[in-house]
Amino acid sequence: MKIISINTGSSSLKFSLFDMNDESVIASGLFERIGIEGSCYKIKFNGQTIKQEVELTSHDEAVEILLNKLIDLNIISSLDEIDGIGHRLLHGQEKYKKSVIITDEVINDLDSFKEFAPLHIPANISGVNAFKKVLPNVPMVGVYDTAFHQTMDPETFLYPVPYNWYKEYGIRKYGFHGTSHRYIASEVERIYGTKDKKIISCHIGNGGSITAIKDGKCVDTTMGFTPLSGIMMGTRSGDVDPSIIPYVMVKEGKNASEVIDDLNKRSGLLGLSGISSDMRDIVNKCEEDNEMAKLARSKYVRRVVDYIAQYYVLLGGADVIVFTAGVGENSIPNRKSICEKLACLGVKIDLEKNNTMGEFQKISKDDSKIDVYVIPTDEELMIARDTLNLIKNR
Ligand code: ADP
Repeated sequence: MKIISINTGSSSLKFSLFDMNDESVIASGLFERIGIEGSCYKIKFNGQTIKQEVELTSHDEAVEILLNKLIDLNIISSLDEIDGIGHRLLHGQEKYKKSVIITDEVINDLDSFKEFAPLHIPANISGVNAFKKVLPNVPMVGVYDTAFHQTMDPETFLYPVPYNWYKEYGIRKYGFHGTSHRYIASEVERIYGTKDKKIISCHIGNGGSITAIKDGKCVDTTMGFTPLSGIMMGTRSGDVDPSIIPYVMVKEGKNASEVIDDLNKRSGLLGLSGISSDMRDIVNKCEEDNEMAKLARSKYVRRVVDYIAQYYVLLGGADVIVFTAGVGENSIPNRKSICEKLACLGVKIDLEKNNTMGEFQKISKDDSKIDVYVIPTDEELMIARDTLNLIKNR
């Protein structure tokens, strides 16, 4: 069985083609700058990578090139070999608590959720429609970024604001990165052979969120109505006092969406340091004793620790803390700083084992009260697994 996982952004399309007999990746790649000058694609297969600049005016064109290339490069011999297509969908609102086979109703519902994610949802729909055009008979599955978090209870997902905002406008905490956190929960279950573990899953990349998981289910997560809330990120502020918004509007003569743009794109590591949104640059500058880089990094660490501490209390303790995504998988100094601040909870980091990048590793000492792991996330595999399960049981 061959399944293709698709992740469409407003100007990009990422794919991974899996052989689900052994969950191996046959090919993967990225189409970038769709609809923008300088578009190109990259396909990795069989230990080689091909890169090509090509005009891509739409997701339809990217899909057409992708499918042609899979055949031209002998990655597959015919499109009939593709048994299913899994799409990452950003928002399932409250209706979609699990992955589903994509039908017209699913597409119409997604369209009606557009207001919740005006950039991502139209791109997701373009991706779905592009494959539907070329492979109308291949089953497609939607895997929602919000679905895993649908187990939060009302005390957790409601904001303390007028209740009609929730009833009439759907304003509540939804949470994102659900597929990644669900993958981490499945990995922890695999390691210990039980779901019965209290997990704090730290997905810290350019975007970032932390999720508290009990019995394999999400109990709370840091992102909210949108991905802007929670911890400090590469360019996003995370939680701030909302009264800042009208104040800055007056001070800088901006409208609300311009200030929200500042909070999404010019805050976080980039905003505070004035240097970069990339943690590698920040760490390098810290080594040169740059004061603003040091401040940005310590604030970043502090926000992660704040939420781990909050979820430790919420869960009534924790068995496992997991680091994943770009910073979590690769940043040795940040994991060290975070774990050292958790010493009061009995966390003991093994500095030698922490000396790892991008690899599965237990980084806590044997006598640590909480096990700490680095687990590379694999949202694409999770999408492919859901796709396989749903098409098998149709
Ligand atoms: P996204 O949220 O875009 O999926 P990723 O999970 O790919 O982001 O994470 C990207 C971020 O990971 C980069 O911006 C960078 O800050 C961080 N990162 C990657 N490698 C390292 C490293 N070796 N040290 C520190 N940070 C790293």
